[in-house]
Amino acid sequence: MNCREISEFLMDYVGNTLDQDVQQTFQAHLTQCTNCYEYLSQYRETIKAGQLACHDDDVSELPDDLVRAVLAALSKEPRT
Ligand SMILES: [Zn+2]
Repeated sequence: MNCREISEFLMDYVGNTLDQDVQQTFQAHLTQCTNCYEYLSQYRETIKAGQLACHDDDVSELPDDLVRAVLAALSKEPRT
């Protein structure tokens, strides 16, 4: 899965409607790609703002364990 595909799957991912195998591929990419991780963070902030505005709770929060896993992976990057 490349970055362009990530952006296409983002809405489904945040909405928790991806197939499990697609979701795992998506998460694996996020642990390796800072750009997509930051893009996802911004996307979540946008959704949060939207939820505050219209009290729409259709879109699920990301699971905390995924966020921790991504942060752990990022912090473990080898120093070069
Ligand atoms: Zn990417």
